[in-house]
Amino acid sequence: MAEELKEKVARLGFKPVLAIVQVGDREDSNIYVQNKIKFGEEIGVRVEVVHQRIMNYESRIKGEEEIIKEIKKLNKDENIKGIIVQLPLPQGLDTEKIINTIDYHKDADGLRVSDTRENNLLITPATARAVMALLDFYKIEIKNKKVAVIGRSRLAGSPIARTLEERGAKVEVCHKETSNTAEICRQSDILIVAAGQIGLVNKDFVNENQVVVDVGINRVMGEAEKPKLVGDVLFDEVEPLVSGITPVPGGVGPLTVACLFENLINLCYHNS
Ligand code: NAD
Repeated sequence: MAEELKEKVARLGFKPVLAIVQVGDREDSNIYVQNKIKFGEEIGVRVEVVHQRIMNYESRIKGEEEIIKEIKKLNKDENIKGIIVQLPLPQGLDTEKIINTIDYHKDADGLRVSDTRENNLLITPATARAVMALLDFYKIEIKNKKVAVIGRSRLAGSPIARTLEERGAKVEVCHKETSNTAEICRQSDILIVAAGQIGLVNKDFVNENQVVVDVGINRVMGEAEKPKLVGDVLFDEVEPLVSGITPVPGGVGPLTVACLFENLINLCYHNS
């Protein structure tokens, strides 16, 4: 994908700029932002980070106003071809309001409430695009298949479920209040896990013909106090029992970064 995207960027005739609005100082967000900067450089896109650090509640309301002002400025800046807000935002900030400030012509994450169907077709949220790219690459049939999706967040679970439905899958969404998640998952052909719960999916959730896509990215302490990334699936337990499974790290995560840039480049072509 990186090679293809690099060629598409070269054909654009200008160096696109992606703006990332980051609020607060989460360590994981810093890593994700760095990964995006690095991938952008690799394919010829400049990533500009607008970083706001909000320290206390008093300044939070003011902080929200400033973020919105900043996004409005980016909306008007002709050099900026795409804008994303690095999620999650610190508690207390209105994610919906902030994201919906992004001009839909620049909504590279596809997370704002879209005012046009045209835009919905153009931009699929990167996590959902990554899951589809992966299933398509491995020629895994989606149409008429039973798919269980664990998680229904705006960022991951919901767009993944919606996109799979659009591709003709029979989707069942499980969340914290679902009482028989393991049973629903066990009966599915494809299982997508986006819960952010380490070790949630074990042998009771799977069957031998199933493809498991682990979207979860969780940081834990590894050997010698070194942090490492794990998914939501107990990989070693589940891997021998299913027909296919994605690893963490090195699965959906890096693909999601590539898909974000695919969205950006689609916006560049569409809007120029
Ligand atoms: P979130 O906390 O906003 O949503 C989690 C969802 O999972 C909720 O709908 C919740 O109801 C459900 N859930 C939680 N525990 C559950 C349980 N025990 N049983 C059933 N459902 C349960 O989180 P999010 O932003 O959607 O992220 C989820 C995970 O995906 C995180 O690990 C995050 O780091 C990862 N993520 C990865 C990528 C990627 O590029 N691969 C992108 C976004 C998020």
